[in-house]
Amino acid sequence: MRVHVVEHPLVAHKLTVLRDEQTDSPTFRRLTDELVTLLAYEATREVRVEPCELVTPVAPTTGVRLSSPKTIVVPILRAGLGMLDGMTRLVPTAEVGFLGMIRDEKTLQASTYANRIPQDLSGRQVFLLDPMLATGGTLLAAVRYVVDQGADDVTAVCLLAAPEGVRALTEALGPDAPVTVVVAAVDERLDENGYIVPGLGDAGDRLYGVV
Ligand code: URA
Repeated sequence: MRVHVVEHPLVAHKLTVLRDEQTDSPTFRRLTDELVTLLAYEATREVRVEPCELVTPVAPTTGVRLSSPKTIVVPILRAGLGMLDGMTRLVPTAEVGFLGMIRDEKTLQASTYANRIPQDLSGRQVFLLDPMLATGGTLLAAVRYVVDQGADDVTAVCLLAAPEGVRALTEALGPDAPVTVVVAAVDERLDENGYIVPGLGDAGDRLYGVV
């Protein structure tokens, strides 16, 4: 498994505003969208393309276009939904699946409550969207699910990660897993409630309010 921390002043700036507890939900949503578009640029560096021929107004030439089968973008509900537009802006032809996962606040174990993903993901590149890689339980369950369905290349796009979550994923998946995590920053640690420190709080609540 590879971890790619995107180092860019615009990423750092937007993340700083997201962290600020004074930032309201509309601003948080807009900045998440912008930040994900920047992360998506890095996350799609190895998106599969195939050669094609075309004619410009001046001359015939060759280029590349996104390969078939189409890549699939899977936001992990609820908070991953706030990352969907930022991702599909760069890959508008991608198919979109949904995975609803919730973690028990006491045991921190993830369980699936909704699933709209094709049964057969053979040969597909999958982009999972989950803002917070905390204990790693949710992302690990999601990665295992799509790999079991046949996905052979998985990229998780996250806003923030905790070192504990990165370690748990690496140990569970092994160094050779076809999995990349693209993240804006890896923070200090998890607190006793499983929150990333300093983090940005509960990403779902910051995006959509407390429900
Ligand atoms: N989920 C969140 O939304 N925030 C955290 O800090 C950890 C998990």
